[in-house]
Amino acid sequence: MLFIIFLLANFFLISFVIFFSIAHNLLVNCFMAKRKIALFGGTFDPIHLGHTAVAAAAAEHIGAEKIIFIPTKRSPLKDSLPAASDDDRFAMIALAIADNSKFQLSDRELKKTEPSYTLETVRQFQADYGGDTLIYWLAGADSIDELPRWYGIVELIDECNLCVMFRAGCEPPDFAKFTALWGPQRVEKLQQNVIKTPLIDMSSTEIRNRLAAGRDVTDMLAPPVADYIRKYGLYQSKAKN
Ligand code: ATP
Repeated sequence: MLFIIFLLANFFLISFVIFFSIAHNLLVNCFMAKRKIALFGGTFDPIHLGHTAVAAAAAEHIGAEKIIFIPTKRSPLKDSLPAASDDDRFAMIALAIADNSKFQLSDRELKKTEPSYTLETVRQFQADYGGDTLIYWLAGADSIDELPRWYGIVELIDECNLCVMFRAGCEPPDFAKFTALWGPQRVEKLQQNVIKTPLIDMSSTEIRNRLAAGRDVTDMLAPPVADYIRKYGLYQSKAKN
């Protein structure tokens, strides 16, 4: 008799645990929104107000919990190395994002010895955050024509939300021309993920050129970044940088 009661008790206990775990999963999947994390990669040489403004607008649009800035060691698609050192670029981003609690900074790509591929970075963050988190990757509209040359671009489109943002001086993002290459579903996904960010006409190249010519750049930089550049004499000469 005692044995039967023991068996019944175990049966009810196990059934309760299974029921609870199914109900919990259903609740999470049906009613709780997934976490959304946006990753913003670039050389940030240096980071400027265009970067932070579009990142803030994209975070708002996506409903992202945070935006993680990921300075890259060097772009696999750019011929030249960044003008400023890894440490300086990292320090300037830290200064530029300090007053926005949604902004974070990662040295994941800087720690690598080889150029990093976006697909690898996205997969690492996805593994860190787990399957319940949606990963978004932000890129400016100037990147569109380079996309077919990105390593593992098809997997990248499939595995994350690749968001292309408006950029001053560029056509509004349009992926129709890639239909034959990637298929209509991927093109539709990219189109859905276009973000109409404010048009802020600035670039790191223009800032480096102005600094090398001894011109003022304070209207394009967060004040602590401008101070840092002045303090360490960055971007003073085109040849050296
Ligand atoms: P450079 O002039 O050295 O090429 P950049 O200003 O384009 O630099 P990156 O560090 O290369 O800056 O940019 C990182 C990412 O931010 C890229 O995806 C780029 O398209 C995007 N981006 C940079 N500036 C803007 C801007 N003003 N508006 C929208 N997107 C931008």
